[in-house]
Amino acid sequence: MGEFDLIRRYFLPVAEQRGHPDLLLALGDDCAIQRVPADQDLVFSVDTQVEGVHFPRHYRPEYTAWRALAAAASDLAAMGATPVCFTLALTLPEADENWLEGFGRGLAQAASQFGLALAGGDTTRGPLTISIQVHGTVPRGQGLMRSGAQVNDLVTVSGTLGDAGAALDYLDAPTPGDDERALLSRYHHPLPRLELGQALRGVASACIDISDGLIADLGHILERSGVGATLNLERLPLSRPLRRCAGERAPQLALSSGDDYELCVTVSEALWAKLPEVIKSRLTVIGRIDGGEGVRFEDGVVLNSGPPGFNHFGSNS
Ligand code: ADP
Ligand code: MG
Repeated sequence: MGEFDLIRRYFLPVAEQRGHPDLLLALGDDCAIQRVPADQDLVFSVDTQVEGVHFPRHYRPEYTAWRALAAAASDLAAMGATPVCFTLALTLPEADENWLEGFGRGLAQAASQFGLALAGGDTTRGPLTISIQVHGTVPRGQGLMRSGAQVNDLVTVSGTLGDAGAALDYLDAPTPGDDERALLSRYHHPLPRLELGQALRGVASACIDISDGLIADLGHILERSGVGATLNLERLPLSRPLRRCAGERAPQLALSSGDDYELCVTVSEALWAKLPEVIKSRLTVIGRIDGGEGVRFEDGVVLNSGPPGFNHFGSNS
C-alpha cells in the first residue's frame, strides 16, 4: 500500500465525516485553508506522542489515536478555545493495515467527540510518533492564559485527579474489576474539558490543563503569574475508584500523576460568587492564591522541588 492509498483509505474518511464551516479547504491539497472570522483570535498548539514515552509499546491503536487528539484538544480547553480543526503528522514503522484501521477508527471517534475537523497531515516512516496540531478560536482577546492569577483568587480544579495515574498499575491486568476499569477508562479515553474552558472565558483569571500533575501544572500558573498558592489537602477531589484502589496513595497520585486532562482554574472570589451553579458544580475549590512562592499546604508542608518533594508529603499523610 502506497502513501497515498494509505491516506485515502484511513484518513480521508475522517476528514469527510465532519468538516467545519471555517475550514475552507481540507486534506488533498498542499495546505488546508482556515478562515478566521474578524472578531476571533486563532488559538493553536502542537502536541507529540512517542511510543514507549507517552503511551505504552503495543498499545491499542484506537486508544493511541484518542489519547493523542485528546491531549492536543485539552490545550484548546485550557485556553477557553472552541475547537475548529487539526493536522496529523504520523510516523509509522510499517503500514500495518489492522493498526491503521484501529487508529483511523479511534481518530474518527475522537474528532467527532471533540468537534475537530481533520485538515491534513504528513505521513512518514520511522518509530511510531503522532504529532497533532490543533486550531481553535476565541472571541478577540478572551483566550485564557496562565499569567493572570491574583492574590486571594480561589484555586479550583475540574473533575477528579489521580485516576489516570492510578490506571498505570492496571494496564496489563487480565481481568480488571469495576474500579480498575473506571480508572483505566480515564487513561484510555481522556475527555478534555472543552465546554468548561469555553464557559470560563471572562471568568478565570488563569487556566491550565493538568497533563503533568497538579503540582507541576499549578506551578506553571504560579510562575507565570508571580504568585504562590496554599492548598487544602482534604479538599482534593478523589474519585471513589481511586480511593478504593490506591488507598493512602490517592492524595499523592492526585497531586503528582499526569494524564488526567482536567483544568486547574483560578477565579476571583467576586466572580466565583456570580458563577452559575452548573459551572460551579464542575469545579472544586482546593485552595487560594497568595503572595508566597510555589505550592504550600494548610498544614505547613512545603513542596518546592517537584516529585522528590513528595517525600515531605508522604511523611505527613
Ligand atoms: P505535500 O507533499 O504537498 O506536503 P503530502 O504528499 O505529504 O503533501 O500529502 C498529501 C495530502 O494528504 C495533503 O493534503 C496532506 O495534508 C494529506 N495528508 C498526508 N498525510 C496525512 C495524514 N497522516 N493525515 C491526514 N492527512 C494527511
Ligand atoms: Mg505539496
